[in-house]
Amino acid sequence: MCALAERGTVFTSASAPSSWTLPSHTTMFTGAPPALHGVEWDDLAMDPGHATLPEVLHDAGWFTGGWWTGWFLAGDYGFSRGFDVYDNAMTGGRDIERQYRAALSAENYDLVRSILAGRDTLGHQDITTPNVLRALEATIESIDDKQDAFLFAHLFDAHYDYIPKAPFDTQFDPDYAGSMTGQNFYKNEAIFDDSKSPARQVSDRDLEHLRALYQGEIAYIDTYIGRMVDALEKAGRLENALLVITADHGDEFFEHGNRGHRQSLSAEVLQVPLLIIQPGGSGRRSDVVVGLTDILPTIAEFAGVDAPATSLGRSLLPAVRGEDLEDRGQLGSLLHYDLFRNEYLFMDSYRTRDTKIIRTMGLDEEHRLQLKRIERFDLAQDPGESSGSRDRKAIAASPEWAAFQAALQRVTDAYIDANPAPRGERGTKVRELFSHDLANLGYAEASGDSVPGGLGQPWPPGPRPKVEIE
Ligand SMILES: [Zn+2]
Repeated sequence: MCALAERGTVFTSASAPSSWTLPSHTTMFTGAPPALHGVEWDDLAMDPGHATLPEVLHDAGWFTGGWWTGWFLAGDYGFSRGFDVYDNAMTGGRDIERQYRAALSAENYDLVRSILAGRDTLGHQDITTPNVLRALEATIESIDDKQDAFLFAHLFDAHYDYIPKAPFDTQFDPDYAGSMTGQNFYKNEAIFDDSKSPARQVSDRDLEHLRALYQGEIAYIDTYIGRMVDALEKAGRLENALLVITADHGDEFFEHGNRGHRQSLSAEVLQVPLLIIQPGGSGRRSDVVVGLTDILPTIAEFAGVDAPATSLGRSLLPAVRGEDLEDRGQLGSLLHYDLFRNEYLFMDSYRTRDTKIIRTMGLDEEHRLQLKRIERFDLAQDPGESSGSRDRKAIAASPEWAAFQAALQRVTDAYIDANPAPRGERGTKVRELFSHDLANLGYAEASGDSVPGGLGQPWPPGPRPKVEIE
């Protein structure tokens, strides 16, 4: 990636729109922030009426191929739309998909649950990047030389579990003599134990080792990115290619008291790498404030196609060419069910060059959103967002708050224009599974109609009602 950066642009202030895979990828595929695409819960698929990037390119005559790993990229969510080829690259993944669908249609929920447990373990422990490379190489060779191609490779190995192969397992922490491994990272009680306070159990030294294993995974992936670029070069496609390398979110290593992601909107989970290489480009760094909403318009401009109406970002190609591009404040959002505190939390955030506001809301008895906490961080002094101001009056009077509200209003207006399909038409098969599971956890009402929106999500997809902060 460093070698590629010598002829591309590294965006140092790029934000993901959420801290987990499903909403963040949906944004990349539609250009819409989560409050517009609405895919903020495990059981929701993309709106069938909204076009995706592969659909737009396919309609323009492009070959479209994608390889996915990690179950939130499953075609059922809408990711397969518009692809000539959209393949599960997990080891044995297609068999598991077949068994899973059969068990669901037979309503054999015991089997469904056991397949689900097994597939989650597989998702985290499987090493998939070589599978993606193999599929990509074979496809690149088979595409008609005269046809334009859009290729999407989802590389999951940097995701926990952190179990890099040699020599990457020791590369970043060669002297470690302890017993901590990256196996079972999320559920390992020697790392995090929710029944204790504080929940963090891991020592500083072992945590340093876990970070080194994470770095090892990234270094491992990096070698495969090199091989993917080689495959493009061998096929004579590299010199005309636009390469976009990014991530859907980061992982937390107790910067804010937790591990992994999908729990917060802090810098370590929302700030993502973004590297764009254009033919004939030269190496530069850009600190302009950008986001994953900009990926689709960037590729659309390069391909000479119109972005779908739901796409609210802007093309980053001017910055790649070295032209000026203004900062654009970035929205973040996360809908989160806190199983241990038995409550729904909804967080949203707004990032500018120098500040970030993070707001946390909960539901009252009538399922109305209530402010729980709001913080404003000075990123120049505190880039890690460790301690912010909680002065609600001062935040409400700040220009960033006004810009935050204006950005939310733009999304609300776009939502009305986009004429979204009713929620009932947007469920995936995951829905049946998810409600079944919650009922078994003693949280039956989350699967019924007593919660607005039903089926686990406490309100319909789309923009949230306004919540005053004073
Ligand atoms: Zn992810």
